[in-house]
Amino acid sequence: MSQTILRGGLVLPLDGSEDWHNPGAVCFEDGTITYVGRVEGAPPAQPDAVVVDCRDRLVLPGLINTHTHTGMTYFRNLLEDLPSAGWFRCEQQAEQLMSREDVYWAALLGAHEMLRQGITTIADRFSHMDVIVEALAHAGIRAVVAPSLVDRDAGMRKRQALALLEQYGTSGDGLIHVGLGPVGPDTCSTELLRWTREQADRTGALIFIHLAQSQQELAEIRRRGYDGAARYLDAIGFLGPDVVAAHCIYLDEEEVALLGARGVRVAHCPASNAKIEGRVAPVLALDREGVRIGLGTDCAASNNGMDLLGEMKTAGLLHKVAACDPEVMDTRRLLSMATGDAAACLNLAERAGSLAPGKEADVVTVRRDALHLQPWHDPHAGLVYAARGADVCDVWVAGQPRVRDGQLLAGDAGEAIGRAAAWAERHGPALRAQRLSTGG
Ligand SMILES: [Zn+2]
Repeated sequence: MSQTILRGGLVLPLDGSEDWHNPGAVCFEDGTITYVGRVEGAPPAQPDAVVVDCRDRLVLPGLINTHTHTGMTYFRNLLEDLPSAGWFRCEQQAEQLMSREDVYWAALLGAHEMLRQGITTIADRFSHMDVIVEALAHAGIRAVVAPSLVDRDAGMRKRQALALLEQYGTSGDGLIHVGLGPVGPDTCSTELLRWTREQADRTGALIFIHLAQSQQELAEIRRRGYDGAARYLDAIGFLGPDVVAAHCIYLDEEEVALLGARGVRVAHCPASNAKIEGRVAPVLALDREGVRIGLGTDCAASNNGMDLLGEMKTAGLLHKVAACDPEVMDTRRLLSMATGDAAACLNLAERAGSLAPGKEADVVTVRRDALHLQPWHDPHAGLVYAARGADVCDVWVAGQPRVRDGQLLAGDAGEAIGRAAAWAERHGPALRAQRLSTGG
């Protein structure tokens, strides 16, 4: 058995209690957490144990990103200050320039970036998911992946989705499992959405869909004769507690209640919504209807990074401004949206999202000794409003080390960076010119 003991840190289990242990300890053996508590109560170190001195660190569960697209990491810093329709048009032009090899390396870059910043689990979706899944498995990040389903090439996409479902399953027993990924109510026919519902019922896969994301989507739904995307999906029998809907910006009050009644989960991406639509999703109203909400960074093209510590702060600030109320969206709630609530959104609550014996050892440490983090009156507040992804020191996924002392252990991060730079050099000038002619 391989035992790891994180000793002496300020341990934040984020298990729904207000507790923290200081000085605390977390132990794990063969990928499973065996102890969380005060350092005095920790089990003795076995002769071959790895013991990590965490006296100047905070120890917390790995963060969970409920919506991202690692395959789009090469579009970072490319799509700024565009109208919504122009953003989507330019993004699609950029997508056309991605070979399968490019997609692999973009996904690897994104996975490394997230691991480095303490994200241990992601819900990822894009085309070429058969390639992306190899990159994610290679990086060693926990992921539920949803291959994109749209009307274009629908037959081929359905076959690919079923093949991946067959290969990786839907249980979450391994690091990778598979969901269904209809892109949106406007880009999928009613037939394709009904097929997705049937497959979800048959396999137990979660459904990941963009919902009420843009004005263009709303216009298409109105052409189909429905006043609202959520209302349309409900009318065709699509909504249910296995649906994880990203964005949910353009919902009226009745649709907010509808999502609550159907048990739909929401992946909330505040930075992306602000950037592409200039909007804040009605999260406080969704809260009142009991909707489960996880936080998502969305992709590097719409954020421009994948840092959930930063995303918590963005969410807190945006909702305080939107509500004209500084008391809403407190720090505990924000942390839960990136840990426990996010795990529940992805059907991973029994495995991840908090530090507790029996859970998978997805564990992160954050430095406490930096200038910009002093003093630590309240670790919850420090994490949400002062710390950033770059403050993450160590990361384990299922007990396996991915980051030590702020350094990724993967040997190919440098190659991933070099390939991204080469792609930008090759395609950047043409994409920027296209943006000027068609986007802005
Ligand atoms: Zn998305």
